[in-house]
Amino acid sequence: MYEVNHYFSQLPQSYLFSRIAKTVADFRAQHPEAEIIRMGIGDVTRPIAPAALEGMAEGIRAMGSADTFVGYGPEQGHEFLRSAIAEGDFHSRGIAMADDEIFVSDGAKSDIGNFPDILDSHIRVAVTDPVYPVYVDSNVMGGRGGKLQPDGRWSGIDYMPCTEANGFVPDLPAKAPGVMYLCYPNNPTGTVLTHDQLKYFVDYARTNGVLILFDAAYEAFVSSPDVPRSIYEIDGARECAVEFRSFSKTAGFTGLRLGYTVVPRELRGSDGHGGQVALRDLWLRRQTTKFNGASYVIQCGAAQLYTPEGREQIQATIDYYKSNATMLREGLTGAGLTTYGGVDSPYVWCKAPAGLSSEEFFRLLLDRCHIVTTPGSGFGPSGEGFVRLTAFSTHELTAKAVERLKHLI
Ligand SMILES: *Cc1c(COP(=O)(O)O)cnc(C)c1O
Repeated sequence: MYEVNHYFSQLPQSYLFSRIAKTVADFRAQHPEAEIIRMGIGDVTRPIAPAALEGMAEGIRAMGSADTFVGYGPEQGHEFLRSAIAEGDFHSRGIAMADDEIFVSDGAKSDIGNFPDILDSHIRVAVTDPVYPVYVDSNVMGGRGGKLQPDGRWSGIDYMPCTEANGFVPDLPAKAPGVMYLCYPNNPTGTVLTHDQLKYFVDYARTNGVLILFDAAYEAFVSSPDVPRSIYEIDGARECAVEFRSFSKTAGFTGLRLGYTVVPRELRGSDGHGGQVALRDLWLRRQTTKFNGASYVIQCGAAQLYTPEGREQIQATIDYYKSNATMLREGLTGAGLTTYGGVDSPYVWCKAPAGLSSEEFFRLLLDRCHIVTTPGSGFGPSGEGFVRLTAFSTHELTAKAVERLKHLI
């Protein structure tokens, strides 16, 4: 019989998340009259901006006529979109960026999951704890996990705890890793790093030859002036960091699928024989071999997000979610609970009262308030004692959830 990639079989089932799904299903069966408010899953709910819809409509019309039809596009993305991104997301904020350092894709998750393809299979990986599970699982699939330990951590991966005690600023691993994943604004905690805090990581990475993989999926939610929206706002980041961006949370493209990855020319890794290789060239090679480009129509839609109307429209949606986050934060605090995040982020990280575990608090919120959350322990051991709530619901349901929280304790 043929053998499968045995690293895949090392990955455990997510027992927590299937148990949660079952708990909610059971609750629904027992209380068919209850109006359950879902604040667990990180998917958006507001419709696509009209400017993007018009851009896609134009793209579709072009496809319908032989003289404007578009077939395979450049694997890196159409030039019209890459230049709009370079201008709109970087030059306009005083950051240098060349169009050919931008790689458009069908979403940040694919790029994040695929990026380890171009790294050595023995490279040491560091992640924050709690963590967006893709960083860990994709490295386990690549053989970098080592052994799964009883506390749910992998022996081959370094975990940088983010806790109340350190203000959710990750503790550095004892020994410098090869690659470090950072996600800010953070999923799941909703916390951010200030310019100075992020600079500390950039300086550390440059001094120690570490590659930072920076996930900026939630950059559009940043409004605090001292919080960077891109790691390239920090001097020296071009020499140590790759950045992942997504139109999913910014513009509601979760179902349309589009993102991009920035790989600056300065990034170089060792070839293992005393030479150096540009990461940008390797990523281009990887993408041109295994990826045939993102949809032309969706790229036409995304380009329109960089027009004045497009910007205004997506900002209105972001503001809508941000006001939900404020409502949630204030409602939870008003109920006597401690919260973090939710300011430059659609996520609120709420501490369980009086020694309850994540799962017990999840259960309490479901039973008493009919609100579904995500237990923090599902994101790693340091998430224990917290739940994550999302601001992606409607104003009406968020207000209703806040009203119900008044009767929690
Ligand atoms: C939602 C999300 C993404 C974006 O994924 P897409 O594939 O672009 O939809 C990336 N990173 C984090 C942490 C996320 O929560």
